[in-house]
Amino acid sequence: MAKLVQDIDRFVAGMKPETRASVHGSSKIKAEKRMDILAAEFDDADAVRKMAGQVKQHTLEHLADYLEQAEASLKRNGVHVHWAADGEEANRIVHDIMVQRGARKMVKSKSMVSEETELVPYLEERGMEAVETDLGEFIVQIDGDHPSHIVTPIVHKNRKEIAASFEREGLGPYTESPEELTAMARQHLRAKYLEADVGLTGANFVVAESGRIVLVTNEGNARFSMAATKTHIAMVGIEKLIPRDSDLPLFLSLLARSATGQRLTVYTQFIGGPKAESQQEGPEETHVVFLDNGRSKVLESNCREILRCIRCGACMNICPVYRQVSGHAYRHVYPGPVGAVLSPLLNRGGFSELADLPKASSLCGACQEVCPVDIPIPDLLVRLRNKGKEEHSPRTSIDTPGFGAWAMAASSPLVWKAGLTAGHAMNLTPKSLLNIHPSAKAWQKNHDLPPFEGGEFRSWLKHDAKSQGKENSK
Ligand code: SF4
Repeated sequence: MAKLVQDIDRFVAGMKPETRASVHGSSKIKAEKRMDILAAEFDDADAVRKMAGQVKQHTLEHLADYLEQAEASLKRNGVHVHWAADGEEANRIVHDIMVQRGARKMVKSKSMVSEETELVPYLEERGMEAVETDLGEFIVQIDGDHPSHIVTPIVHKNRKEIAASFEREGLGPYTESPEELTAMARQHLRAKYLEADVGLTGANFVVAESGRIVLVTNEGNARFSMAATKTHIAMVGIEKLIPRDSDLPLFLSLLARSATGQRLTVYTQFIGGPKAESQQEGPEETHVVFLDNGRSKVLESNCREILRCIRCGACMNICPVYRQVSGHAYRHVYPGPVGAVLSPLLNRGGFSELADLPKASSLCGACQEVCPVDIPIPDLLVRLRNKGKEEHSPRTSIDTPGFGAWAMAASSPLVWKAGLTAGHAMNLTPKSLLNIHPSAKAWQKNHDLPPFEGGEFRSWLKHDAKSQGKENSK
């Protein structure tokens, strides 16, 4: 049965005004910074975005070959390569590595893929400790919360809430000073890095040609996660490949500018494998876990372009819907326009469960305009709306009585014509006889409804067709 109120509307109705203000303000600032830096530094930013999109699309079209090449390159560099069909398998591989190494403690750099597989609860249930070290993710973890943005996970929180959380967790006395809060987190996390046996990261890119794992952060926490630990595990979605090292400048310059309006993130790491004998620091063992988890199916679908995504978050920052509803309204790891496409396709509970998300868009096209890999997100959203319709998903069905009546009238020529006739009849009816809803009576006292003008286009078309016919028969 069609739902009258969608989950996303229900979520927004219960949203605190200060959460909306935090999300809106932060997204707007990032979107403006992105726009300024791209306009100032590229003669033709669109051409650069399109070029990056073509490289990613080419990689996707030859993904099996590039994955084989990446595996060979990684192994040549001394990296252990694992393949996981789904999140459960990926988590099990990570857990097994920890058990084999006699490890109990993990420090984690930010990784959306590990959010997708729910790695932290999986490890905790098995007696392991896994601590998030990205400041935003750390706050999310101590609050038992979820990230609401893929780049800035605590965009929905303000400093008062963070101060209260730190005080509650015994990190230090209540303070709203960002510097003091950061220092408290730093002190707490430094001890965790030194105690940990395993460091887990994601990967922003894996280069097929060289087997290089590329990581970007602004906090240096990925670097710390690998410096003191003996084992490094990178959990990577299979779509994160790029063909050559020479493609990196293009993607690195677009990623930082699109995500945070920076020329380059503060730390960019190129990892070639475990530490060499001559090196004093670094992991003795490096593992890459390539995760499918539904990506092969997306690759076969008519929405494969979404796998170009380099997770910059620019589409969220610009999206008028995301700015109003925040990331949690999307009910999945990936929010915003990218999530409205990707989340229903990757969802463990099936497409139908999130089939309403492609409707959370006005199709204004801003997401495609800012996307550094030029993903045609509005087209993909429409394709998914059609998929929902074809599969009779209840969440895609017409969900308000008003739209139901409109659809019935618009798809029946007879009802449509009757509506036009009724509209014209209203023009001849005295205002006092029109049965306006009681709530509109006060408004009606001082206003006139504009005259109904429906049907003009039909008459014009009929007239025009007749004149064309006469012209052609001359
Ligand atoms: S879809 Fe494009 S804009 Fe959105 S996160 Fe991915 S790369 Fe960035």
